Amino acid sequence: MLILKCPYCGVACDETELHAGGEAHLTRHGPGSSDADFEEYLFMRENPRGVHFERWRHVYGCGKWFHAARDTATLEVFGTYSAQVAEPPKDVRAAITAKVPGWRWRDLS
Ligand SMILES: [Zn+2]
Repeated sequence: MLILKCPYCGVACDETELHAGGEAHLTRHGPGSSDADFEEYLFMRENPRGVHFERWRHVYGCGKWFHAARDTATLEVFGTYSAQVAEPPKDVRAAITAKVPGWRWRDLS
């Protein structure tokens, strides 16, 4: 079972207390953007076996959205952090690098 710690209220909750919100750190494109940018925003998602960054909502708790970095193959969680940041914090990236040297996800490493 996947267990994530909410970075806002500090509760370690299992996935039944959470709602998955898809991929984290998407660049949002709306009216006025090119068709290619809008298509990528709507349809193109990472689907890695390994390091992945996701959005989660603590539905049965504080109700806030947060991001989680985890390994999709092992369910190992590298860290959770605020959804109000553009990139994963350095401590989360360091935790990933310690376990998965040479990892890449989109333009992050
Ligand atoms: Zn919470």
